[in-house]
Amino acid sequence: MSNNLKIAWIDNGIVIDHIKNESTEKIFKAMDITNKKGMISFAFNLKSKTMNSKGIIKIEDKELSDNEIDIISLFSPGSTINYIENGQIVKKHICKIPNKIDNLLVCKTTKCITNNEKNMSSSFLLKEKNNNVEAFCVYCERVFNIDELETKND
Ligand SMILES: [Zn+2]
Repeated sequence: MSNNLKIAWIDNGIVIDHIKNESTEKIFKAMDITNKKGMISFAFNLKSKTMNSKGIIKIEDKELSDNEIDIISLFSPGSTINYIENGQIVKKHICKIPNKIDNLLVCKTTKCITNNEKNMSSSFLLKEKNNNVEAFCVYCERVFNIDELETKND
């Protein structure tokens, strides 16, 4: 158990650790915490052995949806999701960027067909490059840095 996990320990829920510092707020905002009664905390600018600085999000009594896991994986590949039950880490998942993501990111090209046709879902091919994630829209064929893009729910 790392020192960071000992702070404000939760008995059941999820702890997302090693989040890219600058992505922590974006990821936190994308988490569905409607009607959550348990403890919720997020912090960034934390010291880390492996990163310059990092963020952590802890949500008690929370199960992550596939959509939420995709968002963490896209904006902060390398993050660790710790699943906590009865005070123990029962599962760890290291987030990796998927090769392709459908129907989640919004293309920034105004004229892109995905922004103009109803029932057209977006589709991006993803690739890690120089510590960044590049997103290629398969419809308008433009390449974006992942940090430029917003998710549908924003
Ligand atoms: Zn596009």
